Amino acid sequence: MKQVLVQVISVLLAGLASSAVLAQAVDYSKLSNEERQKIAAITEVWQQVPVVKADAGKAPSDAINLLDLSQWQAVGSKAPAGWELKDGVLTVKPGAGDIESKQAFCDVQLHMEWRTPTDIAGKTGQQRNNSGVFLQSRYEVQVLDSYNNPTYSNGQAGSVYKQTSPLVNASRAPGEWQSYDIIYNAPRFNGNKLTSPGFVTVLHNGVLVQNHTQILGNTEWIGAPSYTAHGCLPLKLQDHGNPISFRNLWVREL
Ligand code: MG
Repeated sequence: MKQVLVQVISVLLAGLASSAVLAQAVDYSKLSNEERQKIAAITEVWQQVPVVKADAGKAPSDAINLLDLSQWQAVGSKAPAGWELKDGVLTVKPGAGDIESKQAFCDVQLHMEWRTPTDIAGKTGQQRNNSGVFLQSRYEVQVLDSYNNPTYSNGQAGSVYKQTSPLVNASRAPGEWQSYDIIYNAPRFNGNKLTSPGFVTVLHNGVLVQNHTQILGNTEWIGAPSYTAHGCLPLKLQDHGNPISFRNLWVREL
């Protein structure tokens, strides 16, 4: 047994800790069960992770509830957010302008549910009930009625706007609640130098539409995206002139 342990530890110390390599190095079948358990314990991690209460249909216990107007302000003026919050539903007030969270965020998990109006008469493409969530105020995940509404695919619902099209179109009909679950890794900078781009994963109505997608830089309507260095920044919701509604809006800092 001692000889086998020395063999295992030397393999681990050599940085060859994969089970495949260990299996090649040592024939565990010749060991007793007790000996195998002792060796198995070498690769166990017993440092416990935080406990989060995750009740069905509720925000996790460590989430920040953003469905609260006191958490938001008008972009630019920093005046109180002029959107409407009624019966747990936050709605864009067209003309009131974009709103931003008072809190700045870096890496996050974001959950949001959104609904576009059923009034689509005369509205096509990007004009059919548009909004968006800007991660760190700069990188837009598009919110749009993309149900039977062709537009450029890197501008439809679930796109990283003008950068990456969603993998599929998982849109529901106007008037129905839809969800985004977003996992966002912020870009890293050393001074003004980009050391790691941002990455975003998006599930639209539970369907994967962005799979660890690299963010190419600031969202631009015209021209190519590029990065400018920044630290943690607010989340921003877009007033594109349409009364899009939001509910169950929460974020977890990662
Ligand atoms: Mg938009």
